[in-house]
Amino acid sequence: MSVLVCGGAGYIGSHCVYELIEKGESVVVVDNLQTGYKQAIHPNAKFYQGDIRDFQFLDKVFKENQIDAVIHFAANSLVGESMQLPLKYYNNNVYGTQILLEAMVANNVKRIVFSSTAAVYGEPECVPILENDRTKPTNAYGETKLAMEKMMKWADVAYGVKYIALRYFNVAGANENGLIGEAHNPETHLVPLILQVPLGKREKIMIYGDDYQTKDGTCVRDYIHVIDLIDAHILAMNKLRDGYDSDVFNLGNGSGFTVKEMIEAAKKVTGYEIPVEIAARRSGDPAVLVASSKKARKVLGWSPKFTNVEEVIRSAWNFHSTHKNGFEQ
Ligand code: UDP
Repeated sequence: MSVLVCGGAGYIGSHCVYELIEKGESVVVVDNLQTGYKQAIHPNAKFYQGDIRDFQFLDKVFKENQIDAVIHFAANSLVGESMQLPLKYYNNNVYGTQILLEAMVANNVKRIVFSSTAAVYGEPECVPILENDRTKPTNAYGETKLAMEKMMKWADVAYGVKYIALRYFNVAGANENGLIGEAHNPETHLVPLILQVPLGKREKIMIYGDDYQTKDGTCVRDYIHVIDLIDAHILAMNKLRDGYDSDVFNLGNGSGFTVKEMIEAAKKVTGYEIPVEIAARRSGDPAVLVASSKKARKVLGWSPKFTNVEEVIRSAWNFHSTHKNGFEQ
């Protein structure tokens, strides 16, 4: 049997493919290469270039392979862009997931693990955030992920497709092999942006707001290493294989770091000065986002190994310092 990884050429998806293959799984990758890179796909994965919105294409992939589980990362994920182009997000994320589910149902594939987001909660009512807290997204991206979760719920009721939605907090870091890592163009995430300064690609890092009600005035986030994140996906997939019911889990480290603390950690890891400039708050940014991942620990038996942010930044630096322009020449 094979695992189908949709979006297996992207940052998180490519890490998943590497881990699955390391664990002896046979892997099929589907990716349209709009934001992913062919070079990030593990050479032993069977790759199909195509779009999840294309039912005929997906149907062929399912018919040509013995797939027993799907791990779904194929989505657009930029909060700012989602506010400018919400319909692009509905089309790719929501409609794309609908077609994927239709192809799964048509081919009797009944297990899916997929990436949801902390953005489904919006401004949290209390921290750390629990899975049954109120979901009230403040951006179109989070709304599309919540719509995907709800679609899965009804697909389970009607067709028995079992799903596990993993709500990620801030993912960072890279595989220790130095072959794959976070490569977005344009880049919007804090850790790779900070590292652009020591790489000589940017003069300084902008801090979006230093007047939040936090210990140093900058936003607090829960940074989770991509390898720990992927471990949870594989545990979730195997849980579904064991007959576990559909469910939702938060994935974070459970401790928060401010933007300033992340910059300090990056200075230590890289040995470079990292100048900063205080800028206006970025709209839609909650002051504090920290997950309670107790449920994932208890039910999935998940236990993150990279709890020190310096280790997370060090692994990211290991990739970026050898791939200054990501996967681009
Ligand atoms: N951030 C920042 N400067 C940057 C990019 C991000 O100060 O150049 C802050 C952002 O406001 C947020 C945190 O860093 O508080 C993490 O942002 P990121 O975009 O990485 O992830 P998000 O929390 O939006 O998922």
